[in-house]
Amino acid sequence: MPNIARIETFVVSQRLQKPFSYSQWEYDRRTVCLVRVTADDGTYGWGEGYGPAGVIRAGIEFFTPLLLGRDPLANGALWQAMHVRGLDFGRRGVLLAAISAIDIALWDLKGKLLHAPVSVLLGGPRRSRVNVYATGLYFDREPGLRDRLAREAAGYVAQGFRAVKMKVGLGVEEDAGNVAAVRAAIGQDIQLMIDSNHAYLLTEARALVDRVAEHDIGWFEEPVSPDDYAGYRELRRQTRIPIAGGECEYGVHGFQQLFAAEAVDIAQPDLCACGGLTEGQRIAALARAHFVEVTPHCWGTGIAFAVGLHFLSTIDVLPGRRRAREPFLEMDRTENPLRDLLTTPRFSPEGGSVAVPTAPGLGVDVDAALLAEYSKPF
Ligand code: CA
Repeated sequence: MPNIARIETFVVSQRLQKPFSYSQWEYDRRTVCLVRVTADDGTYGWGEGYGPAGVIRAGIEFFTPLLLGRDPLANGALWQAMHVRGLDFGRRGVLLAAISAIDIALWDLKGKLLHAPVSVLLGGPRRSRVNVYATGLYFDREPGLRDRLAREAAGYVAQGFRAVKMKVGLGVEEDAGNVAAVRAAIGQDIQLMIDSNHAYLLTEARALVDRVAEHDIGWFEEPVSPDDYAGYRELRRQTRIPIAGGECEYGVHGFQQLFAAEAVDIAQPDLCACGGLTEGQRIAALARAHFVEVTPHCWGTGIAFAVGLHFLSTIDVLPGRRRAREPFLEMDRTENPLRDLLTTPRFSPEGGSVAVPTAPGLGVDVDAALLAEYSKPF
């Protein structure tokens, strides 16, 4: 079997036609760090990190000497080598995103070398399609936000989505009005989730759940600071709205802290940041032991989305019943040419779900011409 011959990083970026914002930040471009790991027989795998692209690139370069010349099929051992190398400096945070990107590329490469889709390597698919929900409904600078949110949400329903997630975090009163408008626009049969991106103190989050409880909220995501485990637990005790979080957690030990605090009903590891598919499987096992649902955060290119599809295709529904509620993958619908153009195939929902790729590896590839164009300095 071949050995790892080359590891290349690509920071790709594209300016957006229309900036958008959430409670913490405004985006006017989308930028991501991809990695390609190539074996000496020419077979390659793609990976992606979630977070500051230039920092992730530096992290990948830090780990590269550990990997060159090694057996890509021993990806678990390579994960451990990176983990041990980074432990003194980056137990949590962006160094884990660099490990994630490499780990994902190694799973893709392994699948291609063994002629098997990643879902098969992960234990075999429980489902051939994965339910998705639309993430959008961000803020912008223009007047008339509430009407625009209502129209946008209705548009997702028209596209076949059965669930949508909207941003909150503008203040309790404004949020409550926006949630009511979106609920009215989508009707009662569509699931509606809210996400504040840790905008609130416990007192504010509590006030918001009181105001929106009548609108049948599927979950409240990142209601308070990711460091406020006690606030998470307290809010969760006081509301019947399920509490979700975890996109800022890293590694199985980060999620152990979240679960030990009884902070969430739904864990949301980002597989391109939490430690990759290797660590994602451990987090899923830990969540299973705590009877916590896993619904990955996913906000990148088609590589990240394919990772989520393969991962969720192998997740068991707990505790198990004949008519079980299927797991959900986040499907970002905001403007993103890196997702829509750079990678193939283009994933589109049909009936609220997306087919899991069946080609070897992740089943996604990167357009070479666009990769060169999007990698130009900006
Ligand atoms: Ca989120």
